[in-house]
Amino acid sequence: MHAQGNQVTNATGPAWVKNIPTDDLIKWRRHIHENAEVSFKEESTSEYVESILKGFNNIKILKPAKTSVVGILKGAKPGKTVAFRADMDALPVQEETGLAFASKNENISHACGHDAHTAMLLATAATLSKMKDQIKGTVYFIFQHAEEQAPGGAKDIIKSGALKDVNAFFGMHVLPNFPAGHIGILPDGAASTMSDEFSLTVIGKGSHGSMPHLGIDPIVIAAEIVNALQTIVSRNVPPGEMAVVTIGKFQAGNAPNVIADKAELGATIRTTSDATRKLVETRIKSLIDNITKGYGATYNLDYKNNYPAVQNDPALNKMAKNSAVSAVGKSNVFDAPMMTASEDFSYYKQIAPEVFLTLGVGNGVANHNPAFNLDEKALQNGVKVQVQIILDYLNQ
Ligand SMILES: [Zn+2]
Ligand SMILES: [Zn+2]
Repeated sequence: MHAQGNQVTNATGPAWVKNIPTDDLIKWRRHIHENAEVSFKEESTSEYVESILKGFNNIKILKPAKTSVVGILKGAKPGKTVAFRADMDALPVQEETGLAFASKNENISHACGHDAHTAMLLATAATLSKMKDQIKGTVYFIFQHAEEQAPGGAKDIIKSGALKDVNAFFGMHVLPNFPAGHIGILPDGAASTMSDEFSLTVIGKGSHGSMPHLGIDPIVIAAEIVNALQTIVSRNVPPGEMAVVTIGKFQAGNAPNVIADKAELGATIRTTSDATRKLVETRIKSLIDNITKGYGATYNLDYKNNYPAVQNDPALNKMAKNSAVSAVGKSNVFDAPMMTASEDFSYYKQIAPEVFLTLGVGNGVANHNPAFNLDEKALQNGVKVQVQIILDYLNQ
């Protein structure tokens, strides 16, 4: 749909553009990248964010959860309260980017780009902190922990009550399969999928590898389950309905000559309608139950309904598109298809309307891939759009 390429326009913008700390933006991103921490363990990342926020004028700091940080900027004039959210956690993925500032932590890396989210929101806070006199209302900068791992960090922050006065929430995610610096406006209504997951242990009976008749081989059974689950999307979900069933984990066995006593599977499920969500869950449970029974095995299944879909508020989404166009120019803004990814940003709509947008970062390697990387030139556009959205919302 959109060609790859680097077409960041640096058109002359509003006066505040010169206040964007462009060098720090990259420095912060690289520091966070190098010191990646997984969900719920973002201790040094949240300390780093807090220490940087402390260096800005006019920002009050809250710690609504152990590893979340919220900066609050109260403008000189009264008005509404708007929040922008960045997530800070990394993934249990061994980085393979070859970057000089690659993660120092083994098997942990920012393969989803949350390092960029955090750095951009810091730059947005830095820029706006110099504009207190012009700001009408209050801005919350939410640096959230644990987006990648259910039940997610958003729930903790909401539960703390720290965000109860917020009138609108905005969030932004980097996507590598769009040109660097291009802003994707997601659809009104459902803008991401619902996310469910399951953990399954198939319990067989261990045996000598040369004596299969004395055991019940859980690897064969689990393999059968993996194949059968592929038919849910192809044979059960109505054509045109969106559904994804991905088995991302399959662990069993320790030795070539030993029949294992159990096999473990983990899967993620994405859907966009309640009916399909239920249909997929019912089929998964039925296939697991019947296949294991058929082979004389038993199982433990933990099936979780996780994140709901992000619901873009139509009026705010329209405003955000106009903000993006005025911040980075029409040629850098496009209407993006819904994200098949899920987001715990979706929970914030319990408090107030929400809008989620995307930022193209070039390079084409998918989020969560060990080689995921981003074109840092894109980040400045992200900051411009964030600042513009916040100002437009408070001024409208
Ligand atoms: Zn992710
Ligand atoms: Zn993410």
